[in-house]
Amino acid sequence: MQPGRVVIVSGFSGVGKGTVVKNMMKNHPGRYALSVSLTTRDKRPGEVHGVDYYFVTREEFQKRIEADDFAEYAPYGDHFYGSPKGFIEEQIAAGRDVILEIEVAGARQVRKLYPDALTVYIIPPSADALKERLVGRHTESPEEIRKRFNKAKVEADQVGEYRYVLINDTVEECAKQLHGLVTGELQETGVTEEFIENLKQQIQTL
Ligand code: 5GP
Repeated sequence: MQPGRVVIVSGFSGVGKGTVVKNMMKNHPGRYALSVSLTTRDKRPGEVHGVDYYFVTREEFQKRIEADDFAEYAPYGDHFYGSPKGFIEEQIAAGRDVILEIEVAGARQVRKLYPDALTVYIIPPSADALKERLVGRHTESPEEIRKRFNKAKVEADQVGEYRYVLINDTVEECAKQLHGLVTGELQETGVTEEFIENLKQQIQTL
């Protein structure tokens, strides 16, 4: 059996990467395993412990760092996020592709550990679309939203570290393209440097 592959999916906060990944997994039952991260942030309404994240205290998170349980971990905003290594190892050994929905600093660490990981950055069709999604989901305080915009401004410069860039215009299409990249059916996404540059500039005005 072929071992599975690590697939890193990153993207600006609010871009809808979680929805894209869920859609792709639903369309290919058993093909993928989603790595559930540990986080020290509070649960949002509707989130489920063990499904969306393992919500843990800072002390617990620190213990897991000391036990070398993470394939990667990073701070984001005021909180810590990390991917448990054991799960990734089990799943790739079982031949499943493992999706890690993580931010840029974590992605760098994972690339060191799994050099043939597929790296994909998901971008919105426009900065306004990103703003609407983030404000419209009513899950973060205005202060938290401001922090995320500021984070997006920094992250805009890191898109170039990813092998592929996908636009999340419609969830279905983006999910289909993501699957195509994993299987190798899709080799190029057609997103131009010019489009990315333009978006980066728009994001700086958020
Ligand atoms: P959120 O709080 O919106 O769920 O996630 C905030 C950011 O943390 C997102 O960019 C998400 O991709 C990232 N993230 C989630 N889990 C992990 C993880 O295990 N490691 C790292 N490095 N980033 C993560």
